[in-house]
Amino acid sequence: MRRTKIVATIGPACDDHETLVRMIDAGMDVARLNFSHGTPQEKAETAARLRTAADRAGRQVAVLQDLPGPKLRIGPLRDGVAELKPSDRVVFACGTEETGDARHMTVAWPGLAEAVEPDDVFYLADGTVRLRVEDVRDREIEAVVELGGAVASRQGLNIPGELASLPSVQEEDLEMLRFGESIGVDMVALSFVRRAADIEAVRQHTRVPLIAKIEKPQAVDNAEAITHSADCLMVARGDLGIELRIEEVPLVQKSVIALAGALARPVITATQMLDSMVTSSRPTRAEVTDVANAILDGTDALMLSQETAVGAHPVETVAMMASIAETTERALPYEEWNERRVRRLERSDQDPAYTVAYNACAAARQLELAALVIPTLSGRSARIISAHRPQVPILALSPGKETVRRCSLMWGVQAARMRRHEVTEELIADATRRVVELGWVQPGDRVGVTAGLPSGRPGTTSLFQVQHV
Ligand code: PEP
Repeated sequence: MRRTKIVATIGPACDDHETLVRMIDAGMDVARLNFSHGTPQEKAETAARLRTAADRAGRQVAVLQDLPGPKLRIGPLRDGVAELKPSDRVVFACGTEETGDARHMTVAWPGLAEAVEPDDVFYLADGTVRLRVEDVRDREIEAVVELGGAVASRQGLNIPGELASLPSVQEEDLEMLRFGESIGVDMVALSFVRRAADIEAVRQHTRVPLIAKIEKPQAVDNAEAITHSADCLMVARGDLGIELRIEEVPLVQKSVIALAGALARPVITATQMLDSMVTSSRPTRAEVTDVANAILDGTDALMLSQETAVGAHPVETVAMMASIAETTERALPYEEWNERRVRRLERSDQDPAYTVAYNACAAARQLELAALVIPTLSGRSARIISAHRPQVPILALSPGKETVRRCSLMWGVQAARMRRHEVTEELIADATRRVVELGWVQPGDRVGVTAGLPSGRPGTTSLFQVQHV
């Protein structure tokens, strides 16, 4: 049973019922809707198609809404593209979205001219095109091309460093957030988070779990506080590799995954994981090794972006990722992770759920349990058990369908619905019966079940029972 989860971005290459069913069958656990592209109506239709496809495949698939955040973009370009050559001068007009060309471009945010100064660096085209600011005048910025290349309409504009006056949460994002809730998204990713307060600002408006995308140097500096505030992290290597020196991306990936593990937050590793499969039917050795290394670093989930959204082989890419995960997981250092992954401070922080999780892993090893079964109302107990990385399968059971779908991102957790129980003995008996029905255990096996007292209240997990099947 594969333990690492797969997030796949939905786009024109896979947004039809048959392909979605095949991607789910191949291993997609979470479908990402990138709200930087397309219309809300298209997203609503995709979400509905996904639900139907998941029902048809008989699997739980969560829908992840990825909000653009305070991302700067250039406006539309005549003919859709412009070729910039070294030493060319480009004037950026701020506060307008008029159509531009290779000499005149626009940026919708009116505050940009006030936020930059001569010598600042602009990156376009995924960091491949570099310009340096020469002059700033009333609402206009003149920059000189240092590294040339092709630029396309509405591409992201990265300016490394702190644009303090750029609002963290824009009204457009909040509108998309409300729309996402109306179509039933299960989790929301926030782009260009800089500090914990950026998460708190959004949390006031929603109860949906929030994923902090780590892609700004300030987010790397504030990673611990952000991790405490967020429900989940994403190592967003695309923008990270522009905002930071690209050579630093592997080290940031390792430290963010370690931090997420220490604080028991699921973490997604994203971008260019199997990039050559956008066109090719086989990945490169380097890509396969990159995916395997992210798993060995301890990532909960792996993300596909272009590969599934616009690639030629969306289903085969998901299948390849699943296959790399299954092969790599044979070598995971379970015992070391059980003992050391989650920070001891958190574990002993007067919270029995951490103590139960730690000891459930020890029991699974010592008693050779066949599975751990985790009844959970909010998903929190499943998340904490998952963070301790037990070697045995984890079954999370919840009365809430939202909770069941949110478990789709948690390493090693399979989730299903169960009815609410008021009596703890009945809860444990039902939980044990469910794991037998799934065929995960044989007569004579033993399973570990966690439970809360009183039953039926979130945040009470404090019991662990070993059940004979
Ligand atoms: C990234 O930058 O790696 C990322 C996942 O974000 P986006 O796709 O929004 O650029």
